[in-house]
Amino acid sequence: MSRTAERVRFFTESVIREMTRWAHHYGAINLAQGFPDFPAPEPLKAAAVQAIMADHNQYAITWGSPRLRAAIAEKYARFYGMAVDPERHITVCCGATECMIATLLALLNPGDEVIVFEPFYENYGPDTWISGARPVYVPLRPPEWTFDPDELARAFSPRTRALILNTPHNPTGHVFPEAELRIIADLCQRHDAYVITDEIYEHIVYDGRRHIPIATLPGMWERTVTISGMSKSYAVTGWRIGWCIAPEDLTNAIRKVHDFLTVGAPAPLQEAGAVALEFPMDYYEQMRRDYERRRRLLVEALEELGFEVWWPQGAYYVMTDFRPFGFDDDTAFAMHLVREIGVAVVPGSSFYARPERGRTQVRFAFCKREETLQQAVARLRRLRNR
Ligand code: GLN
Repeated sequence: MSRTAERVRFFTESVIREMTRWAHHYGAINLAQGFPDFPAPEPLKAAAVQAIMADHNQYAITWGSPRLRAAIAEKYARFYGMAVDPERHITVCCGATECMIATLLALLNPGDEVIVFEPFYENYGPDTWISGARPVYVPLRPPEWTFDPDELARAFSPRTRALILNTPHNPTGHVFPEAELRIIADLCQRHDAYVITDEIYEHIVYDGRRHIPIATLPGMWERTVTISGMSKSYAVTGWRIGWCIAPEDLTNAIRKVHDFLTVGAPAPLQEAGAVALEFPMDYYEQMRRDYERRRRLLVEALEELGFEVWWPQGAYYVMTDFRPFGFDDDTAFAMHLVREIGVAVVPGSSFYARPERGRTQVRFAFCKREETLQQAVARLRRLRNR
């Protein structure tokens, strides 16, 4: 008899976070976990200090401070023309991570099925299992990391309750274009399924691409939960501020779960967050240009070193195939990199339910200072000379 619950047998510890621990252990450069190593914007940090000094130190309203919710609503109107009511449609949580699990717990029943594109950000599997539901995987295939519409159609069943979308996509960088979103929207309407969409990388898109929230497509607002947060847009992954945007009935259910999970996200950081959401357009353009440079620096170098790379269209990761180096196991290769070369990456299999599909892939994160990336590239050059 196991001393722990059944549900924890369905998943393992996060490999991303484990690789961060190995990076610390071996003193390696961490291109595994996706967090910036550059500072957050000065005005945002100043606002946080000020919020604490102004004694915003007790619980905020459980679903989010009024100032932050107003700023979120204003930003969605400004960027996407979405009419979001801060009183009825927003739940602020401890990061997009809590948003996702609170949403699944609020919307799913045991035995429901949830469609997930594979590869996928590791949390979606465990989140689904913890909610008592079952993930059904639909492959995204390189080089573009698109799905086959027939395969997606076949994944729907009478038990399908929701589809988890993530655009821009982690780990592949795929930015779902409008045509693909329409196929997804159409199937979800036909099968009366929710779309739960993780858009945390919404402002990181390349080559003139545009991020489109699926909630803005005709007929989708009513069945969509849009999740995003501050972590990636303002380089504050440790602040743990995320939000769910959903129609009123779904929001009420999400707020109940969130209240009993964590009560609320950090109050002073919510106050400060409002300042970031009010940043002008230039801020996002500058950030995008900075990421374009980081992407070019790392991905070109990896290509030149001999990796097979799939240039990401958005987000700040690149998936690669390392077979040219004579390895055939992703964990062995990742451990070799962190131990002998001094660079931590994430083994590809951790993004797949069927691990064999990612066996020859590793993911690099490039949300790092250019010096960090240059140093990592210098270390990786030793790979070639083995
Ligand atoms: N989203 C980031 C990644 O994929 C980190 C998430 C986390 O570890 N909480 O690396």
